[in-house]
Amino acid sequence: MTDNAPKKKEKKAKGTVFVRKEICKGCSYCIDFCPPRCLDFSPDFNAKGYHYPILSPPEGCTGCGLCGLYCPDFAIYGVKFKDVEKLKQDAADAA
Ligand code: SF4
Ligand code: SF4
Repeated sequence: MTDNAPKKKEKKAKGTVFVRKEICKGCSYCIDFCPPRCLDFSPDFNAKGYHYPILSPPEGCTGCGLCGLYCPDFAIYGVKFKDVEKLKQDAADAA
């Protein structure tokens, strides 16, 4: 058996999301409008009794931020990994 078959490129996430799960109302806008369809409801409930979004699969996230734009409750934020360090620095500067 040869190993000449083209290797499938492993997909890596370019970003991630931060979810404020306790203020999520489970409306599903973020899930419905995520372009790569990489959000789903958690099997768990928050304190209000709603399922909240989780990355599924995480490697699909591009960090485009659209989920945050569609959330009526500012309960989710998408960010590109390359911008995380800048956000941390901005937060430190503002403290
Ligand atoms: S940041 Fe973009 S790709 Fe990632 S979960 Fe939100 S909408 Fe989907
Ligand atoms: S759009 Fe906001 S409130 Fe609706 S499910 Fe997503 S995080 Fe929760």
